[in-house]
Amino acid sequence: MDCLFCKIIDGDIPSTKVYEDEIVFAFKDIAPIAPVHYLIIPKAHISGADQVTEENSGLIAKVFEAAAKIAKNEGIESFRIINNCGDDAGQTVKHIHFHMLAGVKMGWGPESLGKTE
Ligand code: AMP
Ligand code: ZN
Repeated sequence: MDCLFCKIIDGDIPSTKVYEDEIVFAFKDIAPIAPVHYLIIPKAHISGADQVTEENSGLIAKVFEAAAKIAKNEGIESFRIINNCGDDAGQTVKHIHFHMLAGVKMGWGPESLGKTE
């Protein structure tokens, strides 16, 4: 399958790994928007949050377990996790991924959507 994040998991495309276990892989975002910007992904290819089912939702729970472990390991006390699903939400890579952002005081509200039109 021609998937950028599957290739990163396989090591065919380089990345800066921050966490790995049997189910989950996490690496630094190549274009960070915060001092800490990691992408946490299940190793199994799920194209987006709209493809989460009763059968595979355990993998998503593992993503959040990994986030908690990463935060503990790195002394991160506050973080935000974002998932973009679909084009309007800004999903550019069709392998489900969770942005883990930290290291800055973040805003919240309509302006934080970063609307393009
Ligand atoms: P999204 O827009 O939610 O689909 O997020 C995709 C993210 O992947 C963006 O934040 C990109 O900066 C990031 N990205 C794209 N290519 C790479 C790469 N080769 N290594 C690390 N991050 C990447
Ligand atoms: Zn994939």
